[in-house]
Amino acid sequence: MHDEVATVEEVDDAIRFGAGLRWAMMGTFLIYRLAGGEDGMRHFMAQFGPALKLPWTKLTEVPELTEAFIDRIAAQSDAQAGGIGLRDWERKRDDGLLAIAAEVKKGGTLSYSFQPEPTALSTIATTAVTVPIPATKIFESLLEYAGPDLKPKPGLARSWTIAPAGLTYTFKLQLGVKWQDGQPFTSADVKFSVEKIILPYHARGKIYFGHLAGIDTPDPQTAVFRLNKHVPCFLKAFQPSEAPMLPQHLLGYTDHSISLPFRRLVSPSSWSPSSVQAQVINLLLRLQEQRGLSYLFISHNLALARRFADRLAVMYLGQIGEFAHPSQLTGGLVHAYSRALFQAMPIADSARARTRAPALPGEPPSPVDPPSGCRFQARCPYRQDICTAAVRPVTEVEGGWVRCHFANTLDQGRLMASPGRRLYARTST
Ligand code: SF4
Repeated sequence: MHDEVATVEEVDDAIRFGAGLRWAMMGTFLIYRLAGGEDGMRHFMAQFGPALKLPWTKLTEVPELTEAFIDRIAAQSDAQAGGIGLRDWERKRDDGLLAIAAEVKKGGTLSYSFQPEPTALSTIATTAVTVPIPATKIFESLLEYAGPDLKPKPGLARSWTIAPAGLTYTFKLQLGVKWQDGQPFTSADVKFSVEKIILPYHARGKIYFGHLAGIDTPDPQTAVFRLNKHVPCFLKAFQPSEAPMLPQHLLGYTDHSISLPFRRLVSPSSWSPSSVQAQVINLLLRLQEQRGLSYLFISHNLALARRFADRLAVMYLGQIGEFAHPSQLTGGLVHAYSRALFQAMPIADSARARTRAPALPGEPPSPVDPPSGCRFQARCPYRQDICTAAVRPVTEVEGGWVRCHFANTLDQGRLMASPGRRLYARTST
């Protein structure tokens, strides 16, 4: 507008028709005109003008907000409004919003949109303003702060006690709570969420949990937080935006120190909206086709890997346990960890989900001090003495290879119903 490339009306049309429904009722000059009240765009510009001095970006020149420029914008806005008054424009806006709402049909899909679109569905990845809105409807915490008194109320915890010195908080969890796939919510999930995810990665994790000495889980319904220093705001941590509870059986397999920074950049994996995920993946595939690029794609989302990868390497604790073709993800994986990952893939069919094998016990050992022998031996349901004593050379199988002493003799029915791949006799190092 400053350079007379477009008028306010043309800019509004570009926004309304170019960026989708979420912009139809907000972000346009007409809406800013309403923000200016009876005095319209000129009054709005007087309020907004000083903000142009802020260092928004160094990527573009911000024009000087001169009186002549304000006059031009105000005149173009008046022309766009076509003599319709403030109240009538407000009515038009409200009619538009109601018309959108009226289009919502039983059995249809409501696209609930904010500006800007949230970049993630969990506050772990980012606490940017729009993210907590959907995230706190999806993930719960031990407490809630609903209601005008803003006092803590039971959430996923049914009760809590604080030791006199304020160094020990004991939470009793609600009974019978299950994740969407039917697995029980337990104190192990609380410990995992706080120690492995929230403390290291949440934007405010170290503020709330920086003085955490440890979390004890004496039974599945009890979580005891031990602090080495009194933290006055500690109880405030247990609200959905600050300490969302996450499923250990789904996320415990991932090395989050590797995957989280990657997600923050392009976020194509499990903590971004599926529409964003699909766009990023399609863009990467298109670039690959056009430019012959090669990708190393790191993810714990096997469904996405199947769509994206030509070859698949399943790694546990810094060592590749199986090298396979993605088509084998439908049931042909051999290594016990690969199959546990496969079992952890979320599925929408709750009846089928109930027949799945239970999640792996325990937690991954420290990669700094990996166990002797097979890296997976501490959690493997097939472990024998030899697994702790020696590392198995790889065994070649159809389409890849496996690093396991019992790759060709595992009782494959214990982890999944479908048979594994036929194994070749030849082995190699
Ligand atoms: S080598 Fe042993 S511990 Fe390792 S995956 Fe195979 S059976 Fe399990």
